[in-house]
Amino acid sequence: MAIIYHPQKYKLEDKSMQNFIDTDEINEILEGAKDPSKEQVKAVIKKALDKNRLSLQETAILINANDPELVAEIKQAATKLKQQVYGKRIVLFAPLYIGNLCINNCTYCGFKADNKAQKRTTLTADDLKQEVKALEDAGHKRLILVYGEHPRYNAKFIAESVKTVYSVKHKNGEIRRVNINAAPLDVDGFKTVKESGIGTYQIFQETYHRETYLKVHKSGLKRDYDWRITGLDRAMEGGIDDLGIGALLGLYDWRFEVMGLLRHVNHFESVFNIGPHTISFPRIQAASGIDVDPKWAVSDEDFTKLVAILRLAVPYTGLILTAREPAEIRDEVLQYGVSQIDGGTNIEMKGYSQDEDEQDLDQEQFEIKDDRSLNEVMEELVENGFIPSFCTSCYRRNRTGEHFMEFSVPGFIKRFCQPNALLTLAEYLEDYAPEKTKVKGYQLIEEELKNYDDPRFKEKLVERLEDIKTGTRDLYF
Ligand code: SAM
Ligand code: SF4
Repeated sequence: MAIIYHPQKYKLEDKSMQNFIDTDEINEILEGAKDPSKEQVKAVIKKALDKNRLSLQETAILINANDPELVAEIKQAATKLKQQVYGKRIVLFAPLYIGNLCINNCTYCGFKADNKAQKRTTLTADDLKQEVKALEDAGHKRLILVYGEHPRYNAKFIAESVKTVYSVKHKNGEIRRVNINAAPLDVDGFKTVKESGIGTYQIFQETYHRETYLKVHKSGLKRDYDWRITGLDRAMEGGIDDLGIGALLGLYDWRFEVMGLLRHVNHFESVFNIGPHTISFPRIQAASGIDVDPKWAVSDEDFTKLVAILRLAVPYTGLILTAREPAEIRDEVLQYGVSQIDGGTNIEMKGYSQDEDEQDLDQEQFEIKDDRSLNEVMEELVENGFIPSFCTSCYRRNRTGEHFMEFSVPGFIKRFCQPNALLTLAEYLEDYAPEKTKVKGYQLIEEELKNYDDPRFKEKLVERLEDIKTGTRDLYF
């Protein structure tokens, strides 16, 4: 059996890799940007609206802007920029927990090894198929598979589970993109997982602050900060160029974490010439047996502000928000910059195929605050003028990694993302939506069609929408 855990074998040839998160540097930049003037803040906002990436210093100016009027301006600017770069589409996915065995002791997580109250389960291939079938029956096309860190969940196991997911086809349903959130692997491990046909590999650093990192990762492999921070560099070496980074908010000062995330983006851009595909910034939620100092809990006010700052700082990086957040907060930050959300989420082990009304914290990693069904989320998005999208076109046409950067420009969104969102919405309306959602959805599609001025392109799009109505599936540009 191939064991994947060999942190001691991994030699960081380039010493500078260890230091790309420099605590003193980040603190100095944050300190140097204290009490910015109105003019300074407005100048940074203007630069961002011209779709320029912001430097760490400029981002620190926004972070330190506390005047409510300026914060409102930051949020308005983020809303405008989001519209320009991403249009109205919101990508939808569902998380699927494969196993909650874990050798680590992360103080904030219900899966930690010392939490004896947690009921441990690993889905068999049959369990997994049942879960995928239930997800397909709700209308999902994109999943993220989530794993605890355990020798059993090695690269081969992850690759097998990905293949099992792709193999399930129920009625018109199929999963077209499988992303992964799992522990860092070695280069060979990443190669194995890549070969199974994954989309994004996500690894959250949790906290970029080294001292805090050691405090909250009590034991297990995850205690090694350097092994984790270099995880996605190894993923690149292993051929995975579609990466997701993240920080778990509430472990340390959010200001520092936003700077850490940005420094991580800069690292990828300078070393590999491409940034990560997505950034996640979950806030810590209640979970069974956790022990978290509430000192750094992030308020709603700060949370919404930091989402707007991230949008301005990295205009072309996808921002992910999950059902950890309540519906009201999700709705607000969708305006400022979030481009991907989960819908109809159930994070209990076997939770999709054996749906129970009450959440049982001893069967899940943490509590979720938004337990609306996928259709409820879809309907609300449509009512608010967003186009829910299940599009998987870029990854299937090889438009990831370097290509992602090239194509993430406004013309691209109009030419590919928006029409593909409409096509996948039409599939959903035909196959899964109740009549009420179907009517609203087709009204939105009609409205959107009015925005297409290129007659040849519009003709093609209308043709494909008609094909979907008569039973053809999986059409994309
Ligand atoms: N076990 C792997 C790892 O730690 O990288 C896979 C991911 S873990 C199952 C998924 C993510 O959930 C973690 O990276 C962490 O950021 C987040 N998480 C853990 N406990 C949480 C909590 N109480 N509230 C919100 N998010 C939490
Ligand atoms: Fe295990 Fe991941 Fe939870 Fe840490 S966050 S205890 S590694 S599942």
